[in-house]
Formats: sequence, C-alpha cells, structure tokens
Amino acid sequence: MRLLADHCDLYNAALAERREAWRMRNYSVSYGDQSAQLKEIRAADPDGQGRHSFTAQQQTLRRLNTVFVAYFRRVRDAKGKQRRVGYPRFKPYQRFDQVLFVAGDGASWEPADGGRWAHATFQAVGRVKVGQHRPIAGRVRTLQLKREGRRWYVIVVTETGAVPLPSTGRSVGVDVGVARFLTTSDGEVVANPRFLDGAQERIADLQRRKQRARPGSGNRQRLRRALAKEWRKLRNQRRDFHHKTARGLVDTCDTLALEDLRVAAMTASAAGTVEDPGRNVAAKAGLNRSILDAGWTQFTSILVAKAESAGRRVVFVHPASTSVDCNACGTICIRPRQDIVVCPVHGELDADLNGARNIATRAGLGSGQATAA
Ligand SMILES: [Zn+2]
Repeated sequence: MRLLADHCDLYNAALAERREAWRMRNYSVSYGDQSAQLKEIRAADPDGQGRHSFTAQQQTLRRLNTVFVAYFRRVRDAKGKQRRVGYPRFKPYQRFDQVLFVAGDGASWEPADGGRWAHATFQAVGRVKVGQHRPIAGRVRTLQLKREGRRWYVIVVTETGAVPLPSTGRSVGVDVGVARFLTTSDGEVVANPRFLDGAQERIADLQRRKQRARPGSGNRQRLRRALAKEWRKLRNQRRDFHHKTARGLVDTCDTLALEDLRVAAMTASAAGTVEDPGRNVAAKAGLNRSILDAGWTQFTSILVAKAESAGRRVVFVHPASTSVDCNACGTICIRPRQDIVVCPVHGELDADLNGARNIATRAGLGSGQATAA
C-alpha cells in the first residue's frame, strides 16, 4: 500500500538525517527540527509526501523520536560496561506496518450504527469498511491503521470522561483460576469460555504438524500461516470475552478486590495444573498456561480501565497464600486437589471461593462472605 510505503520513506529519510547530522556535525536532530521541515518536504513533493495527512506524518516522526529516546537511554545505561548498543535501523517496507492518524485531521470514523460495517476514512487512502468488534464509547481521538500479515486493522482510541455508575452495595473479592475463569467472594462463577478448548486442540495439532514439516517447504509456510491465524482468532475471542466479563463485574460491584498477579507470577495456581495427575500431557499443559497467562493480565487491565471510567474502586492485595488459608478461621488448609482445600476445623471448602473470600478480607471488604441484608 502506497500509504505505508510513503510513511516508511519518511521514517527512513528522517533517520538518515539524524545519522548524517551527528556524523558530520555532531548535531543531535530533534523531533521539533524534523517536524518543522515537513511543510517544505510536502511542498516539494505534492504527488508523494504532499498527499498525506500532515498530523499523521508528525506521528511517524514522533515514532522515530521514541526509538531514539530509547536508544539514548540504552547508551547511557551501557556507559562504562563492555556492551555495544545497536544504532536505530532503517525499516524495510515489509516491516513498516502502521500509521497513526489523529481523528478529525486526515481521518474519520463512522460507527457501525446498527449496520454490519463501520467505516473509516483516511487521507490518501479513502473510505474503508471495518468490521467493528465492540461498541465504541467516547470521543474518538486517534485511528491507527495497521497491517498484520495480510490483514488490516483499524485501532480506535477514544477519550471518555468518567461516567460514574450508581452504587450497587455489592463489593467482592475476585479469584482468577485455572479450572474456572473466575470466582467471586459471594459465589458468582464465570466458567472458562468453551472456545479455549477447541482453539487449544487446533493450535497443538498445527504446532505438531508444523514441526514435522520440512523447513523452508511450502507446506511449513502454510502451516505457519494457519497457526498465526488460529492465534489471532483466539486473541480476538478472548479479548471480547474479557470485555464482557469485566463489564458485568463493573456494572454490578462498587469495589472489586484482586490479587496483584505481577507479584504472584502465577506460579501457585499454575503448579496445580501441571501436577494434576490423570490427564496430563506436558505440551498441552504448557500451551494451556500460555493461553491463560496472557489472559489474566489483559483481563485485569481491561477491568481496571472500565472500573476507572465508571467510578468504581479496584483494590489489589498481596497474593501470598490466599488460596490455602481457611477464610473462616485462618488455619492453613491442605489442598488435596486443585479445586478444594480442607480446613482441619471447617472441613472441605471450594478452593476458588475460599481464595476469593480471602482476597475480599485482605482488601478490607469484611469477611468476604455474603452478608445478610
Ligand atoms: Zn477453618
């Protein structure tokens, strides 16, 4: 596509300018310097660079600037150490895959509005049909046109002022797990979506076939593409599921308590699956992990964003031993299976529910058990 090629040329020319200026004059060219030249560049090339959105070109120059800022940071960090830092490289056309537009300035967005397609219009490209995955709320700020393999995506970023939802009187601890997607301290259970199973089978199968295929063969290439497609489909389905699940919780709860999973690094919950006797295949467990791991981080960030714009509170608690302390008496339970814990005083308890209640307690939401109205 011409748009990407022209932006790629701009990016590479700007990179060359920075490089030359440093080599010849020890001058460090800034984003401001380059942005100031845009007008001239456009005037000199009306059928090429001049056709494109000015603000989108500024965004491309900003991207290069970000690359340089990171480069200078690495150089600073490497000072005194025996380490070489690679200078930012030119991008070949096939690696240059996105252009960012400022909405209302060279790009616009028309939501699906009941119909099947939404539309986006980009300067020098025209109006394109877009399959919209979710309703879009708020003022559209930027539109990112992105190529992934042979597909094109439009990523819409909006600005929403927080619209506080009415209070519900419900506050819960939320435990995310392996067997179920999540369990709340008042007993709501969200199962893992079915599509995970199917996708897992298909991905494992494709991976096996790809490994058997001869390197460099057309067959292997076809399998690699099919695999990328499965992952992409899975990512999209999972993201939709996360949005729906987060929406449900944010709509019905004033405060949500979660474990800080950056601390947990998931070792505790995941160990159970890997050790789960009976039906274990190491490769499958590994795949299962990677599918779920990616999921939790994404779900948490979606939940936090929705909570923020709805004026809800999210509390993070330290994850240590939330799953094995009995919520009623604090005694350390034994965990004979992934799904239950056994307290010497209170007997067998649902492991996830007990975990969710401990999270609620730790967040200061009372005992975490449902209170009588
Ligand atoms: Zn107990």
